[in-house]
Amino acid sequence: MCRITRRELLAGGAAVLNLASELPASQSSAGGAEAGKVDLLAPDIYFHEGQLSAQADAVCNNGWIIFEDYVLVIDANFPGGAREIIGKIRRITDRPIRFAFDTHHHGDHAYGNQVFVENGAVPLAHTGVVEEMKRYETGYYAGKPGAWEQAAKGRADVKNSKLKPPSVLFPRELFFDDGKHRVELIHLGVAHTHGDAVAWLPKERILFTGDVCVNGPYNYVGDGEVEKWVPTLDAAKQLGARTVCPGHGPRGAAAMLDDQQAFFKMLREQVGALMAKKPPEEARALVEPLRATLKANPQIARYVGERSAQWDPFPAQVQKVYLEMTGRKLAALPRESHQARLVHARAHGLA
Ligand SMILES: [Zn+2]
Ligand SMILES: [Zn+2]
Repeated sequence: MCRITRRELLAGGAAVLNLASELPASQSSAGGAEAGKVDLLAPDIYFHEGQLSAQADAVCNNGWIIFEDYVLVIDANFPGGAREIIGKIRRITDRPIRFAFDTHHHGDHAYGNQVFVENGAVPLAHTGVVEEMKRYETGYYAGKPGAWEQAAKGRADVKNSKLKPPSVLFPRELFFDDGKHRVELIHLGVAHTHGDAVAWLPKERILFTGDVCVNGPYNYVGDGEVEKWVPTLDAAKQLGARTVCPGHGPRGAAAMLDDQQAFFKMLREQVGALMAKKPPEEARALVEPLRATLKANPQIARYVGERSAQWDPFPAQVQKVYLEMTGRKLAALPRESHQARLVHARAHGLA
């Protein structure tokens, strides 16, 4: 085990750590360290930005809080990401990593659970995470191969580990409080999945959102409900965060929650106004004009995928909203939806 103390690291590691807590609030909330770097948000509270790539170990963003007697980690990442994060925590503290909180069931947030168990931690989550796993992890629950088996085809770290569902479950909230630090894990409603929960630090006003909020064109809508996502983001906004650590993309200020919500609101408004009364064959022709309309709005442009990008989630997002509004499937967008599923799924461990 690495014996470097946190004080030694802080003394010698200014280049590694972004000392956000020493910056003025406006500056510190404007953006974090680069991906893959440990980002100190406040004493004992860290953020780590992953990379949404099939090649990366740490795909989702992580956080960790060093309590008096133990460490709580936010999101388990993929197995390779779990090892990377555990190594980085070990360079800061030798306090035991006791808990790994899965914000939701997706592979890039939960498949590292087994690695955390092997390092003495207990995976925990909102009860909805296990309900979602029962839906998608059919291989684990004695059915046909499911999401894990698919992800194992594309990632050696998944293939060489095993699924470990969280075993400490909370129906709505779970609090960690040792007098110095307080972390509230809260299920705010349906959003990116049916089992999302966030980590709220009321003293520092820091919110770790999981994929309820992202910062960039990373919204995967396949397992959630966009209509309910909007009021769930209202509930997140009411917490009063100063710093928002999203599930993917750089951290930022409270306005990120507004921007994320504005993207879904405008998407719903546009699909409702332009497409909902049209049959699927006609509606599909409007996907690209609708993309252009959303791209022209500077508040939300960064949430709108590029058609030329490796992963373009936009057609799938339009399809989802059209389905929610009309009960009908948008006429197939074969190239786009196939490509979106493949590329996204590989990165997220979904297929
Ligand atoms: Zn994710
Ligand atoms: Zn996700």
